[in-house]
Amino acid sequence: MCYAIPGKVIGIDDDLVTVEYFGERKQAKNDFFDLRLGEYVYAQGGFVIQKISEEEALSILDAWKELFFKLQEIDSRLSAKPENLYQQANYLRQKYFGNSCCVHGIIEFSNYCRNDCLYCGLRKSNGKLKRYRMGIEEIIETADYAVNRLGFKALVFQSGEDPWYDTEKICELIRMIRKKCACLIILSIGEREERLYQEAYKAGARGVLLRFETSNPLWYEKFRPGHIWEERVELIRKLNSLGYLIMTGFLIGLPGQRKEDVEKDIDLTATLNPEMFSFGPFIPHPDTPLGTSLKPSLEWILEIIARTRIKYPYSRILVTTALETLDRRNGLRLGLLSGANSLMINLTPEKYRLLYEIYPERAGLDLTVEERINSVIKLLQSLGRAPTDLGRGG
Ligand code: SAH
Ligand code: SF4
Repeated sequence: MCYAIPGKVIGIDDDLVTVEYFGERKQAKNDFFDLRLGEYVYAQGGFVIQKISEEEALSILDAWKELFFKLQEIDSRLSAKPENLYQQANYLRQKYFGNSCCVHGIIEFSNYCRNDCLYCGLRKSNGKLKRYRMGIEEIIETADYAVNRLGFKALVFQSGEDPWYDTEKICELIRMIRKKCACLIILSIGEREERLYQEAYKAGARGVLLRFETSNPLWYEKFRPGHIWEERVELIRKLNSLGYLIMTGFLIGLPGQRKEDVEKDIDLTATLNPEMFSFGPFIPHPDTPLGTSLKPSLEWILEIIARTRIKYPYSRILVTTALETLDRRNGLRLGLLSGANSLMINLTPEKYRLLYEIYPERAGLDLTVEERINSVIKLLQSLGRAPTDLGRGG
């Protein structure tokens, strides 16, 4: 199982290297390795995350070669006719990123949360939810399996805002994972202290997934009682200045939200120097104050993916599980055909997965991890997408 194709280092400019994949060039930052021209690496999210021997790289590339060009051909065919909005977006995605598609794994390690966001099933006032917290060893084992057995190269570690994991525990976790696993470590742990994020960066984390949720400060403060919009946005900016790759975005379909509000959300995301846009539908959870709201339509979400791609062509756009939940059969495929070029696979141990109930009936949880990987690979291949790094910059 392979989620990344190794590339050859063909240029080094200080900590920025140029990596070549079957003739395509991508930039990647190198924080961790002593590299020379001609060596082979894996890059993810624009970071070099592993150096591998020439012998190993050439045998992997040999196995990929024929398939890679076939995939390119399929993708070029599927994105050739930009007639409607979605096709125009797909055309631009292909023009700027080729057939690269990034597949991250996500491990949801705790559903305890100190916050009370009105839209979320993990909110502290939801007394119906059975809570769980994975121990540090257990998280490391899950990551080890994901990277060293399943082949993932980028992992998102997500939780409610749970202070049980203090700076020391989070840093210990990151250091242990870095020791055992060659992967990009992305934190999605909410609005934690700046010092925690500083130390986590030193320990080796390089990405943060933190949405601002809405660009409307009044709504933000209504939907996230006790929180201040400016502080959230300031934290995102601060984390980016510390060196973190930022994955951020918003919820679509919050009560009262109109199309023109979402336009502002798209623009705010773009100002935050995002490595990746992460936005998705709000799906009401019955045990929350917004439980009787309506969910947005699939068409609206696809339109926003397409509009984002057209307005900001050089963006990386994630298809969220929430979008897949709106349409289990076609959500992922249609998202990828409307301008998106990234997705996540849930790697949370089966005994916890259903308990991470941000919203009900999340897609993809009825399959084992291995079955889900197989179905994603089948889909990506049918769309002509390959797991080369999306690269840096733009
Ligand atoms: N606690 C962290 C990370 C976990 S929540 C945080 O809040 O940042 C991750 C994301 O889930 C949130 O950013 C929010 O946008 C999304 N979310 C919460 N409730 C949701 C719902 N009912 N439907 C869809 N997405 C939801
Ligand atoms: Fe907690 Fe995040 Fe859910 Fe808010 S969205 S209640 S911070 S898990």
